[in-house]
Amino acid sequence: MNEEVLVDPDIESVFCSGGEDDLGHPIVYYNFGDKNKLVCGYCGKIFLKKVNHE
Ligand SMILES: [Zn+2]
Repeated sequence: MNEEVLVDPDIESVFCSGGEDDLGHPIVYYNFGDKNKLVCGYCGKIFLKKVNHE
């Protein structure tokens, strides 16, 4: 199962470098745009925007 990262709703973009050690990949940046979920094309890490409860 791929790692999931929760992101604050006001964050518009994230970056991923694959990990905290030498097993990572080149840093890549992703913009959420109108989506609330991003998947890193290198390592499959999932970025989920926190949902605002109304
Ligand atoms: Zn990644």
